[in-house]
Amino acid sequence: MYSELKTSTRILMGPGPSDAHPRVLKAMATPLIGHLDPEFVTIMDEVKTMVQETFITKNHLTFVVSAPGSAGMETCLVNLIEPGDEVIIGVNGVFGGRMVDIAERCGAIVHKIEVEWGTVISTDHVKKALEKCPKPKLLALVHAETSTGALQPLKEISDLVHNAGGLFMVDAVTSYCGIELKVDEWGIDAIYTGTQKCLSAPPGLSPVSFSDKAVQVLENRKTKVQSWFLDLSLVKNYWGGAKRAYHHTAPVSSVFALRESLRIVLEEGLDNRWVRHQKVHQVLKTKLETLGFQYLVEEPYRLPNLNSVFLPKGNDEALLRTKLLNDYNIEVGGGLGAFAGKIWRIGIMGESCTNNHVNMLVSALEDMKEFKY
Ligand SMILES: *Cc1c(COP(=O)(O)O)cnc(C)c1O
Repeated sequence: MYSELKTSTRILMGPGPSDAHPRVLKAMATPLIGHLDPEFVTIMDEVKTMVQETFITKNHLTFVVSAPGSAGMETCLVNLIEPGDEVIIGVNGVFGGRMVDIAERCGAIVHKIEVEWGTVISTDHVKKALEKCPKPKLLALVHAETSTGALQPLKEISDLVHNAGGLFMVDAVTSYCGIELKVDEWGIDAIYTGTQKCLSAPPGLSPVSFSDKAVQVLENRKTKVQSWFLDLSLVKNYWGGAKRAYHHTAPVSSVFALRESLRIVLEEGLDNRWVRHQKVHQVLKTKLETLGFQYLVEEPYRLPNLNSVFLPKGNDEALLRTKLLNDYNIEVGGGLGAFAGKIWRIGIMGESCTNNHVNMLVSALEDMKEFKY
């Protein structure tokens, strides 16, 4: 027989998921109701309003994809791209690369802006790309590149894309509810995020929002969206509209958890939450540098909530990471791609963003005899 489910009590300080608030876990254990139950319809409406509030948008087409962040990415791209469309995508890490892969599968001609991992895309890079592709259907960027810890400035680039007549699409999976993000003010036309990073809800859902301009593009498509599940012309009646029609069965328990996590964010206040991530980051940064860690990303473009750091010389990062998990119950992330085996990605996101978390990690490191500093 299989034994009863049992896991260790971990402290989650990797690239996600982050620790969930007990209130969120409790909400998830609420008895199930039907997904077309009037009470669940009300809950979906509340979640939609709270997602609008946290994206700081009035966008009508704001909803939650019943799948993780990558499905939010795919939702934006499959709905906005038709075969033969030209798009510009910034690639400075794993997730820009994933967007390129999806866009190519949609039949797009992709113009990549490739810069070194750990750096960001500048307005000059964008201007140069617009010379080669003056009329892009869209330009997509990753706001917070979790694979490197780089924070991409968005506002100035938004104007450049709009002047060229294109849509501005943003990956906000790691920035949402942790770093300043203003969808309407920054002119973002299509945005997606995830639940397991700074929102501190369980993974598996992806809040998404489309501007009216993006909705127009959707309505003027000549071809069917390649994906049935992610086709917004079908999904949108499920997440709003006069007639709530069956599309798929929403993950009821996950929506309960999402609702509670959004309530927690709004109770704290978005601004306070952004400040908290900055403050805890400063504490972590000082302590890490004292131990000899070095940041990968230059200070002005550093994510506060995802700290990519080189270990002090002479340390075996994989061994230390395993020890941290097994002996101290602390999870941190390893490097990806070119940085595999070289860096750690230390997340302080949402509920995992406290001075206590910093102290637990730093004390564990100081306590480990294998750690050389
Ligand atoms: C985590 C992440 C994703 C993918 O989200 P999943 O929930 O893992 O599918 C996409 N983009 C960025 C920037 C991320 O950090």
